[in-house]
Order: sequence, then C-alpha cells, then structure tokens
Amino acid sequence: MIYKKDKLTIEGFDVSFLGKKYKTPIYCYSLKKIKDNIENLKRNFKKIDPLICYAVKANSNLNILKEIKKQNLGADVVSLGELMKALKAGIKPKKIVFSGVGKTEAEIEYAISKNILLINAESKSEILEIEKIAKIKKKNVDIGIRLNPNTDAKTLNQISTGKKENKFGVNQKIFLQLIDYLKKSKYLNLKCLSVHIGSQILSHKPYQSMLKVIDKILKKTNHKFEYIDLGGGMGIDYNHNNSKIDLKKYYKDIEKFLKKNNYKIIFEPGRSIVGNSAILITKIIYIKQGYKKDFVILDAAMNDLMRPALYGANHKIIPTKKVRNNKNKNYEFVGPICESTDTFSTVRKYQKLNEKDFLVICDVGAYGTSLASNYNVRPKPIEILIKGSKIQIISKRQKISELM
Ligand SMILES: *Cc1c(COP(=O)(O)O)cnc(C)c1O
Repeated sequence: MIYKKDKLTIEGFDVSFLGKKYKTPIYCYSLKKIKDNIENLKRNFKKIDPLICYAVKANSNLNILKEIKKQNLGADVVSLGELMKALKAGIKPKKIVFSGVGKTEAEIEYAISKNILLINAESKSEILEIEKIAKIKKKNVDIGIRLNPNTDAKTLNQISTGKKENKFGVNQKIFLQLIDYLKKSKYLNLKCLSVHIGSQILSHKPYQSMLKVIDKILKKTNHKFEYIDLGGGMGIDYNHNNSKIDLKKYYKDIEKFLKKNNYKIIFEPGRSIVGNSAILITKIIYIKQGYKKDFVILDAAMNDLMRPALYGANHKIIPTKKVRNNKNKNYEFVGPICESTDTFSTVRKYQKLNEKDFLVICDVGAYGTSLASNYNVRPKPIEILIKGSKIQIISKRQKISELM
C-alpha cells in the first residue's frame, strides 16, 4: 500500500475507487503479498527444507486456499470443515496435519479415511479414541503427540498456548508415558512430536526456549521420531514499526537443534502468510462528539473484524486521502454494533476526517473473515483478491435475505 499524490493505493488500485465500486465494507487481499510471504518463509528456511502446513484457521476462504496450494504448501487443520476445505482446495492428504484438543469420533474417522499425514493428538483419551477407530478400520495410523513445553510465548495472554496452565498438549511426564504406551500399539505409529506455543510471537527467544525443552525430552527417550512439528505463531508488524520476528535468528536456533538430531521439520504458519495480505475498506457513517475525543462511526464492526474486541488487538487505521497538516483530532474508531467492545482503536493527533470518507483497517488477512459472524444480523462483507491487474471476487457479500 502506498500513497500516490496523497491517495492510498493497493497494488496500483485506488482504494477509494474500490470502495465506491464494490461498496463497503470490503476485505481486499493482495495475492502478491501472500506469495511474497510464502517466498520469504521458504527462503529463510531453505536449508532445512521444511514441510510448511498453512494453518487454515487464519483464513479459510477457498480461493485463498487454492492460491496457497499452488505454492505447494500443505495444511494444518483443526476441524472436519477445515479438513474438507483443504482437500477441496486440492491440498494433498499427505501434506495435511490435524491439530486440536477435542477431535470427535467423526473427525478422526474422516481423517483416517483420507490418509492424512498426521493426526497430532493432545491427550491420552484422544490417542485411545484414534486407536479404537484404527482398529475397527484395520488401518495403521500415523500420529504425533503435542507437547506442552511450558514456554511463555510473550504474546497476548489470550493467544498464548504453550504454558502449563493452557489446555493444549500434554506435559513432559505424560508425553514420556504415552511414548511407552504407543510402543505396544499395533495400529498407531508415533511419528511426530508437535508443539505450538502461541500466536503473534515477535521474538525468536520463546522459540529458542521451546527448542531446548524439545531437545531435553528427546534425550530422555530412545524413540525415533520422523517429524518435529514446531507449529506456527510467527508474528507480523501490526504497528508498522518494524517489530516483526527475525526469521534468520529462528532459523539459526533450528539449525543448531538439528545438528544434534535429524528430523523433518514441519511448520504451521497462519498469520505470517496471510496477515498483512489484506485490508478492510470501510466508510465513515457518522462522526459525533464525545468526551475529550470524537467518535468515528464506521460501517465495519466487530462482527467483520473481531480481533480488537476479542483480544484487545490493535490494527492501524489509515485514511485513503492524506491531509498534510490539520493533524490535531483525537478520534475513537468504532463500529455501529450495540456493544461497548465494538471499538477498533483510539488515536491522538489524527488528521481531520469527514463523514462518508473511506478509511482502511490494515493487516486483516489473518483471523479477520475466519472469525467474522452475523452478529446483529449483519451480512458478511464481500472479499476481493487483487491478482496483478485483475480483481477476483473471492466471496460475495452476503445478502440479508440469506440471513432470514
Ligand atoms: C492457530 C494455530 C497455528 C497458527 O498460528 P499462527 O499464529 O497463525 O501462525 C498453528 N498451529 C496450531 C496448532 C494452531 O492452533
């Protein structure tokens, strides 16, 4: 996104033009950004040739999945629906891993029938369930066990998953017991140790600690794992101040880890692939005076973009027409929904805005539409994908009649 003569453009398209043409709110993606992000991951980890399984929950739009598939990525899924969608996008079963603490019998049956790469189990009960189904189907099933490494990812509490108080994975003691149990299993092959310590991680240090824990536990067992699945979580620069994770440092730590051990590495990145690939174009409905600030009431709301309400996450909001001086307004950007949490951010010294102006909420490609709802009987927004000089509608705006 760049300003040309003070007008905001995305991949050469004038954002206000898009706003007028497609009506707001609009999720607008750049295919170039998605490809660049994938390229960047591949380049940084080239020497270890990892299997990159895109975390479908970050954005499950079928057309986005198809584009990601074209870049030869696999998928990390967490539900039957996501698994079916990944397969529908053409992703090979042998590149799909299935995570999650509560996989149902139906989900496990389907995953087994499709011969996916790995079911990453998160408890003894789940392992027993997979084993029971494998036995009935007379199939050998490859599984992983998710370790809870008790590592602080130093991210928002709501998206931290690798601390001992979190529901995810099993602790080291149980992990070792499960290895012993699985040695005797006729139907399950334990192929993978998996972890995922959280999301929007901005330093390589938590990963470094996590790798140390994995190293330690591997020393306590002679079991030969084939894969180490390091999960996702690589953070992006939401604040636009160069605070994204240094992948080179993360790579160095993994390289060091692999010197002592020889495994195929799996990654499950979601946010780092699609996060900065989309903007949410919105229009100001009203501006009203409040206490010490003015409320800018947008036509996009928490049902369209839930992250601020759900996690207190911050997304930059930028004007589509830049004004050079006149930057003395204190604004709170809010949606029209009847909840006080339907607010995006409060900004000081912002340029003066006018009703009916278009604005852009940045970096909404991950956990944007995938978390959207119809709250307040609001239809879900249109999604468009810029592919070079073309624009593809990748999801139509819902009609209110569909919600009756
Ligand atoms: C959510 C999730 C991911 C993706 O996390 P990002 O922060 O989007 O990279 C990967 N693995 C598992 C198990 C997850 O639950």
